[in-house]
Parts: sequence; C-alpha cells; structure tokens
Amino acid sequence: MKAALVDLVRIPSVCDEGAGGFPFGEAVDQALRKALQIAGELGFKTHYGDGGYYGFAEIGEGKEMLGILGHLDVVPPGKLTDWDRNPFDPIEMDGMLYGRGTQDDKGPLLASLYAVKALMDAGVKFNKRIRFIFGTDEESLWRCINRYTANEEMPDFGFSPDSRFPVTYAEKGLLQLRLEGINESGIRLTGGSAFNAVPDMILYEGERQDDLADKLDQLGFEYEWNEDGIEVKGKATHAMVPEEGINAIARLCIALKAIGIESKAINFIAQEIGEDPNATRIFGDCADEPSGKLKFNVGKIELGLVEQLSIDSRIPVTVSKEEMVSKLSAAAAKYGLEYKEFDWLAPIYLPLDHFMVTTLMNVYRQYSGDTVTPPRSSGGATYARAIKNCVAFGALTFDESMTEHQPNERADLKNLYKSMEIYAQAVYELTR
Ligand SMILES: [Zn+2]
Repeated sequence: MKAALVDLVRIPSVCDEGAGGFPFGEAVDQALRKALQIAGELGFKTHYGDGGYYGFAEIGEGKEMLGILGHLDVVPPGKLTDWDRNPFDPIEMDGMLYGRGTQDDKGPLLASLYAVKALMDAGVKFNKRIRFIFGTDEESLWRCINRYTANEEMPDFGFSPDSRFPVTYAEKGLLQLRLEGINESGIRLTGGSAFNAVPDMILYEGERQDDLADKLDQLGFEYEWNEDGIEVKGKATHAMVPEEGINAIARLCIALKAIGIESKAINFIAQEIGEDPNATRIFGDCADEPSGKLKFNVGKIELGLVEQLSIDSRIPVTVSKEEMVSKLSAAAAKYGLEYKEFDWLAPIYLPLDHFMVTTLMNVYRQYSGDTVTPPRSSGGATYARAIKNCVAFGALTFDESMTEHQPNERADLKNLYKSMEIYAQAVYELTR
C-alpha cells in the first residue's frame, strides 16, 4: 500500500484542463490509469470511463453494490518554498509520509483498496459487489462524478474515504460564487489560487508601497518587501475551516481601504467581510445544531478590466441557500458587484439511526479503541453527496492534524494502517 501510494503521489495530478487532450490534463489521466493498474493487479475488474473522466474497479458477486468513492486529483502545491521538500517526491520521516495527496485523497483511497485486498487474500466471499469509483475532478467541479452518475450504475450505498473518522453524517451546503463588476478604479491587483483555499499571500505592486507598509505595521499585519513590491502574508488552510487560517487578500484590502485606495471589491471586503470567517455582518449569526456555523472565504481576487472575487461558502445543513444568496447579493449590490453562481453542492444529512451510520460507528469504535468521539458533521464536501445512503468515513483519525491543501501535507502511517483494519471490517460487514 505504501509503495503504491508513493507511486501515485509522484504523479502531480493537479487539474490542467484539456492538456494533452485529456479532460483534466495528462497528469490526472496518468494517475487514473495508475490507480486502475494497481487495482487490476490486485484482482479487481477495472474500467476506464468516458475518455478519462472517471474509472472504477469492482470485485464480488450479487445484485447490490457498495460504492467506495475517492479521488485522484490534488490541489496545487502553492508556493514551493513553503514546503520543506518536493511535494511530488514523497519521503518517509518520523512515521509520516510527506507529499501532496498523501492525506487528500490518494492515501485514504489506497488504504481502503488494500483493505479489500486483505479480505480477498483471507478468502472472504462478498455477497454484494464492491465498486471503487475513482474521481478525477473532485477539487474543482466534480465533472468526473457527474459523468459517472450520468453513465454508470449507481451504488446502493457507500462511503467516501475522504474525511475524518468516525462517520460524517452531515455535510454543509457548498456554494462557490463570484462577485463581479466593471473596474472603474484603475487599480490592478491579483491574488489567491483557488476558491477553497485561504490565500496565504498577495503581492501589491502599486505606487503607494510606503504608505501601505506603514498601515500594515499599524494593523499588525505581517508582510515582506520583495523586488516587485509588498507581499502581504497570510496562512493557508482549507476553506471549510477559514478560522484556522489568515486571509492575505482580506488583510491587504483592509489596509488599502485604510490608506484611501478603493475599488468595488476592496471596499466590499474591507467593509462587509474584514477578517471574519463567518461574514457575520452579512449573514448574522448563521448556524445550526447538526452542522455549526456558516463559513465564508474569499479565495481569489482579480482587479483587471473587471473586478472579480471568487468566494467559497459553507452553509449549515438546515439553512436555506436562497436566503443566503439573497443576503449576499444585496450586500454585494451596494458596492456595484453582481452575484454569479459558480458551483452548488446540496448538503447531506443522514439520520443518526441510519444503517450506514450505526454500522460504521460500531466498526470504528471496535477497531479504533475510541469509544467517545461522536459521529461528525463537516463543512467539507465529499463524494458522499453524489450517491444515496452514503457517508464520509476516515481516513484521518480524530486527533490527526489536517494538512490537506497545505504545505508539507503528510499522512501519519500508523493511523493509515489502523484505518485499513477499520475499512476491512466495515467492508466485511457491509457485504454480508
Ligand atoms: Zn479530498
């Protein structure tokens, strides 16, 4: 499993749409083929789907199908100087395997694949089919799984090893959107890399660098001079936990506004959002019991001829999307910005007495020794939303630090091996 994981992490499967004639680029396609090859050698029947949008690997007999859904694409590494080592040349150190994709999602996907292989080797007969579904576009638009859904047989139930243990039974609604307006300010600015990552830096190359530096000092915001201008520092983290990061775009906009540099987007951020990861000014105290607070992340800014903000928001499972959109549109309109939806993934919410929740909770408790951590709800989006009767399940332990989407992403191998025992028992019980 570890050797296969190293092979897969070596393939820099960042989305590069259309490159080499493949839907999400050559490297993503290579990762898909590699995963299918690995599964084929383990004894699964494999299928390369729809010109490389997805693939699957199947074993077992029966009418019913258990789906195990994971993905082979990874988010870009970000600034390479933030890594202690090459993100695509994994090395093992102090029980950790370092590399982009070790936690999200190549590690957990292979852990569950090899767990099933262990059952096969033990002579277990499956009374249901087990199908691993390999997605290739999870980190952007899910075009892979949407193609799968349109073309292929749907599993009857399943889990997605793309989260944390124990079971995730609720996932917030995920809204990605843009706010746009004509740029009448003459200011040029660009920063951030993805909707779903808190930006860890942004460069200001304009003329008011001395004033900006003074203001940043005053505000206590970290920055650095470099040959091109002032680099405002943030801290990268996943957009489902923006409160754990520092948004460099927000900090720059706050400082620019304070020295009188204005534009629609700058004013919107400085006045409506600031550094508040819950955008309370716009949405109020928006939260619910199963899934917690609304989260809001400005992931990208682009001030060219058009001003554009790319935003990721995670909406509590019982809250209406329409209501949130109308509040946001109204707030944006005050600044001359228009709301444009980019992507929407409806929430999932399985009752706590659903058989997937109870079965997987029992297995987890028995094999992890952790009998206290309750089922989780999350702001993350996993393929669990793509099929019915599906939850997210592992592979991170409840106490492992989450390094996905960050520099020095790493998997704790001891935990990953433990997850294989949990996955093996889970698959065993779900295929009786
Ligand atoms: Zn993932």
